[in-house]
Amino acid sequence: MQLKEIQEIDKACYMNTFGTRLPLLPVSGKGCRFQTADGREYTDFLGGIAVNVLGHAHPGLARALYAQAKSLVHVSNVMYNSPQTLLAQRLHALSGGYKVFFGNSGAEANEAAFKLARIYFYRKGEERYEIISAQNSFHGRTLATVAATGQEKYQAPYRPLPAGFKQVPYASLSALKKAITPQTAAILLETIQGEGGVIEGGKRYLQAVQSLCREKGILLILDEIQTGIGRTGKMFSFEHYGITPDIFTLAKGLGGGVPIGAVLARPEVADAFTPGDHGTTFGGNPLACAAGLYVLSEIEKKKLVARSRSMGYRLKKGLKELAKKHPSITGVRGLGLLVGLELAESVSGKAVVTKALAAGYLINCAGHNTLRFAPPLVVTRTETDGLLAVLDKILTETEDLA
Ligand SMILES: *Cc1c(COP(=O)(O)O)cnc(C)c1O
Repeated sequence: MQLKEIQEIDKACYMNTFGTRLPLLPVSGKGCRFQTADGREYTDFLGGIAVNVLGHAHPGLARALYAQAKSLVHVSNVMYNSPQTLLAQRLHALSGGYKVFFGNSGAEANEAAFKLARIYFYRKGEERYEIISAQNSFHGRTLATVAATGQEKYQAPYRPLPAGFKQVPYASLSALKKAITPQTAAILLETIQGEGGVIEGGKRYLQAVQSLCREKGILLILDEIQTGIGRTGKMFSFEHYGITPDIFTLAKGLGGGVPIGAVLARPEVADAFTPGDHGTTFGGNPLACAAGLYVLSEIEKKKLVARSRSMGYRLKKGLKELAKKHPSITGVRGLGLLVGLELAESVSGKAVVTKALAAGYLINCAGHNTLRFAPPLVVTRTETDGLLAVLDKILTETEDLA
């Protein structure tokens, strides 16, 4: 089927949550590239929104999925399943001893984190339930995660939202201090706000937040859904800052495209969940966990975390060079392969995305007029340099017109 036909069916049958999508119908892929139904090829610097860490149609991942599907896809959590246990063991080791619970998405992982924070204090007999998060954050689309997401446009249509959530300006310690009450259970942050436009909290802020949490007996929850699994050049982004959260969440990169989310917590916190307190039907099923196991082993084997660091450095360095000659660039941010290029008001980020597409590169705009790059961790030098050349050309044309 061609794009036009799909667009018509989509319009009639699919809820209009995604508006007019990019006019692309991918049908196959390999590494950082994908082909569309009309026979064009694109280089993917969005990576399924920071999901496809191993690239498209990875043959090893496909084999792992087939091998698992041939034996068992799903058994329910009434029984044990070894992919689940082995993936938990792997994450336990990678995190330095955290305990794990699997769900199917980022939002679900965050929901579990909120429930865990609340039950932790409930078990201690303390009346603490409030979760403080940041403005301009993104934590998911369920009601509680929308309540934690500090963006009016996501909250407005859905009030009343679950109680016990409030937001403060990001990267302001004084605002955070003022917001804390005796009912505060947890502070929830992204180390780098991804959807918000690749905004970095910074080492000083994040370390100070951890100290504040320890001092006040408040749990620190880090949402590593976008920043985890090698994205920023460390397995988990908090390793950059020398901090250790009480709870953190993963999803996007963990399954390499197969839906899986996870909440991880220090054992003392994790143990607040006792039988029946939380659960899931699909979460941690053999198929999703086989994907997670394969992704983590391939990341290790191919040293993709180091690659994220070095290729991200190359991309950021190239963008900083571009910033020197293009007045339309007002900022270069990010770590590893989560990089943002902020554009001046006079330039339409959306127009740049369209022009990049015409030149065969998929990028997107996040937050306020910031181009976001989150390619597969297997992105090559040639692909990175290709993107830089295309951006150089587009910005030159745009500036010449102005
Ligand atoms: C994508 C994202 C989520 C939501 O994940 P879903 O799988 O879409 O529910 C939550 N937090 C952050 C930081 C994200 O980037």
